[in-house]
Amino acid sequence: MKVNVVENVLKVNDELAAKVRERLQAAAVSAINFISAPGSGKTTLIECALRNGIGGTAIGVIEGDPDTSLDAERIAALDTPVVQVNTAGGCHLEANLIMRALESFDLESLDLLLIENVGNLVCPVSFDLGETKRVAVVSTPEGHDKPAKYPMLFRVADLVVLNKVDLLPYLDFDEEFFTNAVRKLNPGAPILRVSCRSGEGIGGWREWLRSCVRSTEIVQ
Ligand code: MG
Ligand code: ZN
Repeated sequence: MKVNVVENVLKVNDELAAKVRERLQAAAVSAINFISAPGSGKTTLIECALRNGIGGTAIGVIEGDPDTSLDAERIAALDTPVVQVNTAGGCHLEANLIMRALESFDLESLDLLLIENVGNLVCPVSFDLGETKRVAVVSTPEGHDKPAKYPMLFRVADLVVLNKVDLLPYLDFDEEFFTNAVRKLNPGAPILRVSCRSGEGIGGWREWLRSCVRSTEIVQ
């Protein structure tokens, strides 16, 4: 019986996610779902893109966390429309929370909506949020074994970011093992090596985000 309950929860979520997707499509907004363990640097990656801008792209952000508005405050400091969603201890975002958060945005004026999921490598993968693309973020201190141990996320990711590569000289991180594991799970997903501290890979990061924008014309 328990299996039925879980299936029903996912079915309701998928129906709501389809509505979110429709709403975003109508407003020509691309949504990116950021999934990673806590502390991998999702918020910093988003800040990095916002600070430099992405060729006139209008960006909104949804921050998901079990508690606090610390991440949303960092985004708001960059003059970016942001909504904090607190899950009250919940370990992932669900489509109904995104649906409600959308009401706070002027969607027609946005090109990109960046959704930072709750830090968790497991269950966010099962909950469609109506996103256009999924980004998996792994930071080097977490270890090269994460894709092999948490394969679900890497199978569905459109982009894999290997973050904090500036720390590689201090770690026993086997980059070949990491890359091979990702390739085996998802041959098509690009792997971006990034460091927000040194700036390595940030150009490619911004370019990838730019490629997600639906409309090719930027309204001045
Ligand atoms: Mg964060
Ligand atoms: Zn969860």
